[in-house]
Amino acid sequence: MERDDYCGMAETLLLTICDSIGARPVGSRENRDATELFSAWLEECGFETSHQVFDCFDWTDHGTILEAGGEVFEVYTGPWSAKVDFQGRLVVASSLDELENVDARDAVLLIRDELATEQLIPKNFPFYNPVEQRRTLSLLENSGASAILAATGYNMEVNGAYPFPVIEDGDFTIPNAYMTDLEGLRLVEMCEDGVSLRISSSSVPSRSCNVVGRKGDGDRILLMAHIDSRSEGSGAIDNAAGVVALMLVAEMLQDSGHGLTVEIVAVNGEDHYANPGEVLLLRENEGRLGDILLGINIDGAGYRHGDTAFSLYGVDDSHSVMAREEMVAHGIIEGDQWRQGDHSLLVQNEVPALAITSAELIEIMSIAHSPDDVSDVVDPCRLVDVASAVVALISRLSGARKSINPS
Ligand SMILES: [Zn+2]
Repeated sequence: MERDDYCGMAETLLLTICDSIGARPVGSRENRDATELFSAWLEECGFETSHQVFDCFDWTDHGTILEAGGEVFEVYTGPWSAKVDFQGRLVVASSLDELENVDARDAVLLIRDELATEQLIPKNFPFYNPVEQRRTLSLLENSGASAILAATGYNMEVNGAYPFPVIEDGDFTIPNAYMTDLEGLRLVEMCEDGVSLRISSSSVPSRSCNVVGRKGDGDRILLMAHIDSRSEGSGAIDNAAGVVALMLVAEMLQDSGHGLTVEIVAVNGEDHYANPGEVLLLRENEGRLGDILLGINIDGAGYRHGDTAFSLYGVDDSHSVMAREEMVAHGIIEGDQWRQGDHSLLVQNEVPALAITSAELIEIMSIAHSPDDVSDVVDPCRLVDVASAVVALISRLSGARKSINPS
C-alpha cells in the first residue's frame, strides 16, 4: 500500500471515531463503541486481543440553574457532580482560614479567591496527591455544605478555561458547580434572601475496558494511546489521532513477524478523574514491566500546524540513536519533554519510553478538552508518518535484538 492509500485509511478511521462515534468519556456507550472498533481492527490485523475491564459510571450533565434576588446566574455543572435541588442561604469562604471557620451546614458554600486558584487533584487520584490540597478537600467535604460553588478566574493549567472547575472528582461527595469570579461577585450582592440552586445530572453504573492486542514473542514493545476523551468536542487531537496511529501500525505489521512481542494498547482513562484504565494497566503488568524494551505513547499527535515531535525518557544510547534516526527520517522532530501523558506510567516505573505529540503544545492545550477539538484539526497523513516511523523503529529494534541473541 502506498502512503496515499494509508492517508485515505487514516482519514476514514479518524472520521469514524470523531464523527460517527463522537466524544468518548469513560463509561459512555460511545466509549464502548470505540473500544469495540479498535478490538475488531486489531483482530483483523492478526493480533490476539484481550480486554482489561473495569467498573465505572456513565455520567451525564443535564445543566445547572442558579437564581438569587430574582436574577439568573451563568453557572456550569461540576464534572461528575451529583444532582441537588437546594433553596437556602449562601456562605462564602475566600481563604483556608475562612474555610476552617465557616458554618456551611444546610447552606451553599461559595469558594473564591485563594480557594479557587487551582484545580484540586481528585482525592483518590492514584499517581499524585499533595498534602496541602488533601487538606482543602477534607475541609470542603466536612463543611456540611449542601452544595459548593466555585467562583474562578482564568487557568492556563486547565487548558486556559474561564471559569474552570475547581472540583473534578467523581469521588467527591458534595454536589458542585462553578462560575466566573465576576458572576460570583454579583451573586454575593444578590444573595440576601438566599439562593436557589438546581444541579441536574445522572450517573449510571457502567463498564469500560483497555484493549490489548499482542503479536509475536520475546521482549515487548508496548505501544499505547488513550482512547477515552472528554465530553466537549469529539476528542480528535486528544486522542482519536493516537488511536488511529496505532490502528495504522497494526495494519502495517499485519503480514510481518518480529523477534519481539508487539503489544498495542488502547488505554481508557487518561481524561478521567481517576485514570481507571491506567491503574488497571499497571496492575496487569505488575512484576513484568522489566520485559518492555521500549514503551511508545502517542497523544496529541497529528496537529495540522507546526511539526510532529517526539521525546525520549530513560532510553539507552543505542536505542536512542535508532529512535532519533527513524523519527527524523519520517519528518518527526525532537521536541520538549512533557510529563502529563500516559508515558509517565512508564517513566515512573523506569521503563524506557518514547512519546509522540505535536510541537505546538500550547495550541494543542487550548484545543484539547474544548468544542474545537474536532477532526479538522488533525492531518491524517501526519498519522501515517507517525505509524511509519514507529513500524520502522520496531523493525530496527527487532533487528538489533536478533544480532545480539542469534537463535
Ligand atoms: Zn485530554
